[in-house]
Amino acid sequence: MNQTPYIGRFAPSPTGDLHLGTLIAAVASYLQARSQDGQWLLRIEDVDTLREVEGASDNILKILDFYGFEWEGTEVYQSQRTELYEEALEQLTQAELTFPCTCSRKLLRQTANELNGIYPGTCRSRAFPFHHEHAIRARVDGQTIAFEDAVMGNYKQHLANECGDFVIRRRDGLFAYQLAVVVDDELQGVTEVVRGADLLDSTPRQIFLQRALGYRQPNYLHVPLLLEPDGRKLSKSEGAVKLRRDNAAVNLHAALAHLGQQPPAELAHTGIDDIWQWALDNWYIAKIPRHN
Ligand code: GLU
Ligand code: ZN
Repeated sequence: MNQTPYIGRFAPSPTGDLHLGTLIAAVASYLQARSQDGQWLLRIEDVDTLREVEGASDNILKILDFYGFEWEGTEVYQSQRTELYEEALEQLTQAELTFPCTCSRKLLRQTANELNGIYPGTCRSRAFPFHHEHAIRARVDGQTIAFEDAVMGNYKQHLANECGDFVIRRRDGLFAYQLAVVVDDELQGVTEVVRGADLLDSTPRQIFLQRALGYRQPNYLHVPLLLEPDGRKLSKSEGAVKLRRDNAAVNLHAALAHLGQQPPAELAHTGIDDIWQWALDNWYIAKIPRHN
């Protein structure tokens, strides 16, 4: 039987230090890949060069290495792949699925209040070439995009009503995450996307682009987010534990616990190798909670 090999990936953005929330996604995608004898790739999502923090990429690599992650080959940097994104954009434009958008931030903010953040379609009928500064949006249609998430179950979104035409290249010329991630996952042959549930509602947009570009659709598994005690997403606030070398065992243990794997308490006081050994022997995606 010729089964497609499992290819997973972890795709952090170098916008700061790694924290426990990111570690949870890394641990889940790593264990899932290892448990399927799959490959695990590392991609640095530095497409948004303006948000990049100096030195963050290197720190991420060092910490992942110290925490015991082993990735296949060398890591890929989105900042070096602009030409590939250009090609995909060109293909979408040929298919008449893009348009130039000149809406100001102010206008978008106004309509966001009225329309729940959904783009009002102001520039939809504009054609290329367009000579003023502009963003480029993908023109969505009236379909509902549904997929089965390995943890979250069935998820669907009516793109036009719930999302609207979305930006794939920004006004400043930088490509948007939504396009870059789709191109990279396809070109790297990624078959399984395991990541935080904050990206669950981006997935239909990504599936829309995959279909428009004739790409394969990977399987998806979104893990519950680590939240602040008051329910907000964990961010740079004090609750976000920065990953350091001296708290590796405790953090790996906490990540496994958050993922519902019920690691024995004493494991937090052992070494990194012992934790990984236990985790590989005891990894069950059925134990991952659907909610936080
Ligand atoms: N770079 C994204 C982030 O750090 C993750 C993208 C993905 O896994 O698709 O939030
Ligand atoms: Zn517009």
